[in-house]
Amino acid sequence: MTNYFNGTIQTLETRVADKLSDYRFQHSVRVRDYAVKLAHDNGVDEDKAEVAALVHDYAKELSDETFLSVIKAKHLDSDLLNWGNYIWHGVVGAEIIRDELGIEDDEILNAVREHTTGGAEEMTPLSQVLFMADYLEKGRDFPGVETARQITDQSLAAGVRYQIVHTVLRLVKKETPIYPKSITTYNYWLNRGL
Ligand code: GDP
Ligand code: FE
Ligand code: FE
Ligand code: FE
Repeated sequence: MTNYFNGTIQTLETRVADKLSDYRFQHSVRVRDYAVKLAHDNGVDEDKAEVAALVHDYAKELSDETFLSVIKAKHLDSDLLNWGNYIWHGVVGAEIIRDELGIEDDEILNAVREHTTGGAEEMTPLSQVLFMADYLEKGRDFPGVETARQITDQSLAAGVRYQIVHTVLRLVKKETPIYPKSITTYNYWLNRGL
C-alpha cells in the first residue's frame, strides 16, 4: 500500500500503463526510479516521489478535445486555451489524475502541474525532484545530460537552474513559443541563491 493512492504501487502502475503507450509507460517507470533516488539523496518523501513520478505523464496521450472540455468544465485559466498538449498534460493533467486516480495530495498534484515549466517561484523539494527526474531519467540522451546529472547529484537546486536555463535556450534557438511561466521560472532561479 502507499499512503497517497488507494491501492498498491503495482495497481497504480497498471492504471498508468493502461493509459499510455509502452514507450511512455517505460519513461514513467524510469522517472520513478530516478525520482526515488533523488528523493532519497535529498531527504524527500520517497513514497510521494514514487507516486508523483509514476503519474506525471498520465494525461499525456489524451486528445485535445478532452483537455479543452476539462478546462471549460473546471473553469481553469482561459489562457490555457492558447497552448497545447505540452502544457495541458501537466496543469490540466493534475485535475484528471485527482479525478480518475483519487490522488488528493496537493504537493504531489503541484509537482505534476510544475513538471514541464517549473513552478514560476519557489518549488517544493518534491517538485524539484520530479522536475529533475523527468529531465535526467536513464533513457534521456541529449548533449549535456551527463553534466546535468553530475550537477544535480551535487545540488538539486543547481540542477533545477541548469535545466530551466538550457530548456529556455533550446526553445529560443528553435524559435518556439515559450510559456510565460517558463520565463518566470528562469528569472526566479537566476536570482535565487543555490
Ligand atoms: P515529457 O512530457 O516527459 O516529454 O517532458 P515535459 O513534460 O517536461 O515537456 C514536454 C515538452 O514541452 C518538452 O518537449 C519540453 O521541451 C517542452 N517545453 C517545456 N517548456 C516549454 C515552453 O515553455 N514552451 C514550449 N513550447 N515547450 C516547452
Ligand atoms: Fe511531461
Ligand atoms: Fe520535464
Ligand atoms: Fe515525462
